[in-house]
Amino acid sequence: MLDLIVKKALVAEKGKVLDIGVKDGLIVRMEENLQEPAKYLIHAQGKLLFPSFANMHTHISMSLLRGLGADLPLMDWLQKVIWVLEGEFVSPEFVRDGALIGIAEAIRSGTTLFMDMYFFEEAVAEVALQAGIRAGLGFGILDFPTKVAKTPEEYLRRAKEFARAFKGQELIFPVLCPHAVYTCSPDTLKKAHQLAQEEDLYIHIHVAETKSEVEGALEKFGKRPVEHLYSLGFLSERTLMAHVVWTTEEERELIKSSGAKVLHCPESNLKLASGIAPISDYVRRGIHVCLGTDGPASNDNLDMLEELSTMIKLQKGANLDAKAMDARTALKIATEKGFSAVGIKAGRIEIGYSADFILLDPQKPHLQPLYDPIAQFVYSARSSDVDTVVCNGRVLMEKGELKTLDEEEVLHVAKKWKERIEGFLRDKIIH
Ligand SMILES: [Zn+2]
Repeated sequence: MLDLIVKKALVAEKGKVLDIGVKDGLIVRMEENLQEPAKYLIHAQGKLLFPSFANMHTHISMSLLRGLGADLPLMDWLQKVIWVLEGEFVSPEFVRDGALIGIAEAIRSGTTLFMDMYFFEEAVAEVALQAGIRAGLGFGILDFPTKVAKTPEEYLRRAKEFARAFKGQELIFPVLCPHAVYTCSPDTLKKAHQLAQEEDLYIHIHVAETKSEVEGALEKFGKRPVEHLYSLGFLSERTLMAHVVWTTEEERELIKSSGAKVLHCPESNLKLASGIAPISDYVRRGIHVCLGTDGPASNDNLDMLEELSTMIKLQKGANLDAKAMDARTALKIATEKGFSAVGIKAGRIEIGYSADFILLDPQKPHLQPLYDPIAQFVYSARSSDVDTVVCNGRVLMEKGELKTLDEEEVLHVAKKWKERIEGFLRDKIIH
């Protein structure tokens, strides 16, 4: 008996109407008329089936801070708004509640994997497990004290404890997250890299996000961020680098030869005026590029379909070349490339791949007439068109209804934190 059959979905990448059979989290059958018993049936006639998204760089609990400090550049936004509020409010409760809002949004917009870097990641793990979503989770490791730890050694010790506690789970996995070149000394980066090797972990780090980061690295180390990381022996196939906006030809070759991956976050880079990453050039060179939203406070959402659409248009516009990126490549970056960057066989609708997919209802004016489902998904669809989400064979949303999270609770915690944070901001302004 199969676990799930999705009946008569138009599988976009095949251009065919098929029944999809799922067992033990995997796509095991793809046929025109699948006659087999199943525990659960989804009728998908008239709907489009696509792989789900992998959001490869976020700080999901920052959903509680979205909308604050709008219109500031990165360093002002961090120093004057975000770090002040985090210093005041971050706690396991804050992280848990923020993750609840963020994960509900992620599922609603068709995401089944997110890579997270924040504080108190046990609290994110708790919600991710309840939601049934995949997540790569890690503590931000910094040289300065926060509520999580006081010294780099303490951060690394906590990261190690976290890694050991959350290893070997089906959907969530620990990741090591030294924050950035400008917040971690060479010594901290070396120790983090060593720990990642000892514990067999992926490393997730911010790299070359802004011009001022590059200038700071040149001043401090005599090297640009990617060169600096390379010289520390930090770059490998297990290094996942968020942003990578500012790179030279030589640095791009270092990324390519090391096998390090780029996690592109176009909307955050635009909103914080960080720049436009040369993504089509990276892809042309054979660099492994994935897509992420960054934290919901610098975007200000976790909408991967919007991110995908921004990425492709930005590459065309910045390069004055309509062929700088095509819709199929963009879709692959947002799906399969993300999953494969962390060794998950998902993001394609094929037998043997994980059953991570979404259904979309195209019976709407902005999706009609439907000639080219992939191009129209990339250029015309909205995340609110996502109707059903399946992760590892489990239905997380069906016909617009979340199956594993309580949306009333999501709205309740949002209201609770709005009152607390607004109260704090009011007091600060008055005194
Ligand atoms: Zn980030």
